[in-house]
Amino acid sequence: MGPGMQLRLATRNDVRLFTAAVVVAMVCGSVLLNYMVTPTRILRETLISSALIAGMLSAPVAYFIGSRMRDAHDLNRRLRHALSFDPLTGAHTRSNFHSRVARLPRGPMALIVVDIDHFKAINDRFGHQAGDTALQQFVAALMDNCRTGDIVARFGGEEFVILLPGTKAADGCIAANRLCNRVRERPVVVEGTPLQLTASFGVAGLGDPAGIERAIHAADRALYRAKAEGRNRVCLFDADKDMGADPPKARS
Ligand code: GH3
Ligand code: MG
Ligand code: MG
Repeated sequence: MGPGMQLRLATRNDVRLFTAAVVVAMVCGSVLLNYMVTPTRILRETLISSALIAGMLSAPVAYFIGSRMRDAHDLNRRLRHALSFDPLTGAHTRSNFHSRVARLPRGPMALIVVDIDHFKAINDRFGHQAGDTALQQFVAALMDNCRTGDIVARFGGEEFVILLPGTKAADGCIAANRLCNRVRERPVVVEGTPLQLTASFGVAGLGDPAGIERAIHAADRALYRAKAEGRNRVCLFDADKDMGADPPKARS
């Protein structure tokens, strides 16, 4: 039983236990009913046969129902996973990112927006499939170099957002520089060919999960500057430099 007394059958063993419980309940019910309604002189004859019938009928029905409940549980689990994690890279989806962030306590947090540089050229040169492989390795490199508790999410095609709880913006910048260096230093391997990727990073700080949209916007502006200044670098949001006219929607 789970919270709220929901009956959850997750494994084959749960189904067996459920079947056994139903059979025992049906047999006991049959015995009880017999004691209550059957005249004593024929009780002996009917008791065993009716208990046997109750057990034999209830076992397959309970097993069938239990199996369907387990299938439903499994489907539910897979649906939840598909809604929460990007199937290609394993990063959090945008909606899962937001629900996780909303549950965080107030306190310093750093937000990093990352976009792979000239990724279109990889697809053009090696094909979409190879681009997918490069994306997977890129995200693995990000995750390997993040701490437990950091939230790595895929926001767009080759654009990712990382939230670092308990980290001030300046330290977020150090973390982003570390990620930037790791990505540059460790080529992804596409069809046996090592390929050097680079990425650009924008960083902004926030002190309350409620300010997440504003922080994403700020980090995005800083990322735009990182692209404009030559890519393969980290820019920390700076209101003086980044609050001009909205950047053109050139990036995906
Ligand atoms: P920039 O440095 O300005 O970011 O250049 P860019 O080429 O990375 O940016 P652009 O927005 O021009 O292109 C992004 C490319 O990312 C184009 C798109 O086909 C590719 N892309 C997006 N999602 C996926 C994906 O899931 N798989 C693959 N293979 N490619 C993807
Ligand atoms: Mg890009
Ligand atoms: Mg992009």
